[in-house]
Amino acid sequence: MPEDVSVVVVGSCMTDLVSQAPRLPKAGETIHGHKFFIGFGGKGANQCVQAARMGAKTAMVCKVGRDVFGNDYIQNFKNNGISTAYAEQTENAATGAASIIVNDTGENAIVIVAGANMLLGQEELQRAQSAIVNAKVLVCQLEINPDASLQALRMAKENHVKTIFNPAPAVADLHSDFYKASDVFCCNESEAELLTGLSVITVEDASRVGLELLSKGCGSVIVTLGPQGCVVCQSTNTAPKHIPTTAVTAADTTGAGDSFIGALAFYMAHYPTMPLEEMARRANLVAAVSVQTVGTQTSFPFRKDLPTELF
Ligand code: ATP
Repeated sequence: MPEDVSVVVVGSCMTDLVSQAPRLPKAGETIHGHKFFIGFGGKGANQCVQAARMGAKTAMVCKVGRDVFGNDYIQNFKNNGISTAYAEQTENAATGAASIIVNDTGENAIVIVAGANMLLGQEELQRAQSAIVNAKVLVCQLEINPDASLQALRMAKENHVKTIFNPAPAVADLHSDFYKASDVFCCNESEAELLTGLSVITVEDASRVGLELLSKGCGSVIVTLGPQGCVVCQSTNTAPKHIPTTAVTAADTTGAGDSFIGALAFYMAHYPTMPLEEMARRANLVAAVSVQTVGTQTSFPFRKDLPTELF
């Protein structure tokens, strides 16, 4: 077992096939783009990479194909100093892939094919059990089989490991146990809307949905709001707190939420007594750096690129 792992992510790996174009095509339309590149993505892997770049000792529990994209992905984890002891390869499906289109104003449209990610299950979690139960923080999302995410969260909770759950991509009928298994339930506006049926545009809306989600049994809720920062709702506080940020001009917001969550995981693991609102303020600033460069993991800052006051 890898020593001293503080952040374990159980989640997805996706090979991003990214096209930059002047605008997003309409249904049935073909348009010319300016540039194409292949990148490393997947919400789980993204969050793990951001936590590692902040300085956390991390392990990724995931499944990729026994194919060129899978081989490259494992090497990418190694390049980022992430333990690959629980990054398994399978012959039975291709590495997950995401086709991403980014327009000139930084908006995106994404289709994901989960592939090998959906084969991560109970057996793989058993093999990773010692890493999960000995971590400080476990992070899960919904790009793998939801049963596997829920099992990992329960495993962590039963062993007093702090959990961050990112219900993305969101589903309207999320199992109620996800809320109970989340110390921090962190979602963006559209996920919050889908989960509650309430519209989220303003900070007040985010506060309302945050309280609604909190009432389902999580320890805390964070709703991210792009350039408006985020709202933090805690079961120990009655009033939701808006944590504003310095809005920057976005070159590409893909992965902003993952940068935020990876940074949050780092702070929860390394500064366990820091108030959640302060962790969210700092995570806002890390994510703001990520939106100023095109790409997903390529835009995530390293510790050396960030102001020392964030540590
Ligand atoms: P995506 O789905 O594009 O990866 P998201 O919708 O999950 O992102 P957002 O709520 O858009 O996540 O952004 C996450 C965090 O990134 C915000 O809470 C904020 O801290 C930061 N952020 C995003 N856009 C900006 C911006 N223009 N200026 C400053 N910070 C930003």
